[in-house]
Amino acid sequence: MSYESFLSGFHSVMYVAIAISLLFALGSLFINFLNLARFKDPKLKYDYISSREKKMYIYFFIGLGAAVFFYLNTLFREPVAESKGWIFIRFAVAICAGTLVGYIPSLLLKYMLPANQKGRLKKLRFQPRTSPKSGKQMRLLTEQEEDVHLDEAMQAEENIFSVDYDVWVDDDSDYVKIEKYPGHLVALECDRCGMQTLKLKKEEILKQPTDTEPGEIVKHYKCSYCNRVKHENKQIAQLEANKESFFLRFKDHIGEAISEKQYAIQLIRMEVFDNEGHPHHYEFGDIDQAQSFLKELEDKKATDE
Ligand SMILES: [Zn+2]
Repeated sequence: MSYESFLSGFHSVMYVAIAISLLFALGSLFINFLNLARFKDPKLKYDYISSREKKMYIYFFIGLGAAVFFYLNTLFREPVAESKGWIFIRFAVAICAGTLVGYIPSLLLKYMLPANQKGRLKKLRFQPRTSPKSGKQMRLLTEQEEDVHLDEAMQAEENIFSVDYDVWVDDDSDYVKIEKYPGHLVALECDRCGMQTLKLKKEEILKQPTDTEPGEIVKHYKCSYCNRVKHENKQIAQLEANKESFFLRFKDHIGEAISEKQYAIQLIRMEVFDNEGHPHHYEFGDIDQAQSFLKELEDKKATDE
C-alpha cells in the first residue's frame, strides 16, 4: 500500500471518528436534557442532579475533546503528504489540543457545577410536595415533629448526622412521604443492619510508615444502631499525606452565641474550616441539633487524632 492511499484511508477513518465523537457528545447533552424534563417528582429529579448530571457534562466534553483530536488529524495535509515525519507531529499536536478541550472544562466543571447545582437542589428539596391521595399540597414536618414517623434505625442515622430525613404529611389523608438526603457527616453503611450508622471510632497504627516503606493501620468501626463492631487493616502511604481531619475555629464562641440567644431561632448557619482552610457550611433548625452536631464533630476530631 502506498503512503498516499494509506493517508486517504487514515483521513476517512478520522471523519467517521469525528462523527461518532460528536454524536456521543451531543447525545450526552441531549440525554441529560431529557432526564431533567422526565423526572417530575422533585425527589427523583434531586437524586438525578446530585448523582448523575455532572457525569453527563463530563461525557460531553470528552466527546468534544475526541472530536477535536480526530479533526486535527485531518488537517495540514500538504506537509503530511510530503514527509512521513509530519504525521506524528500532527498526531502529537492533536493529542495536546484534544486533551485541552476535553480535560480543562471538566476541571472547571468540578469547581463550578456544585455552586450552580446547590441552588437548584435546595429549591427541589423544599418545593411543596403534592399528595397523590388528596391532590393537595403536603406539609414538611420540623425535626421535632418528624420523629414519630421515623423508625429507630432512621433516627439513629439522623442522630449522627449521616442521613437527613424529610417527612412530608398530607393533613387531610394522613399520607406520609419520607425522603432520604445525605447528612452533614460521613458514616458508612453498616454491613449487618444496612443503615448508614457505621462510624470510625478509633485508629491504631500497627506500623509507622517510613520514607521507604508503607505502614499499617487498623481502623475500629462501630455501628451506633446495631452495635456491630468491625476492624479493618489498611496500609498507610509512605509519606503521610492527606490526613483528613476537621478542626473547629471559634468553637467556644459559637457555643456561647448559641446559648445566649435561646429565643426565636429559625436557622443556625455554621461555617467550619478543615485543615486545608476550606470552609464547610452547615445549617440547622434548632440549638439542640447544632450542639449535638458540634459534639459529633468533636468525636470525629478525636478519632482522627
Ligand atoms: Zn448496624
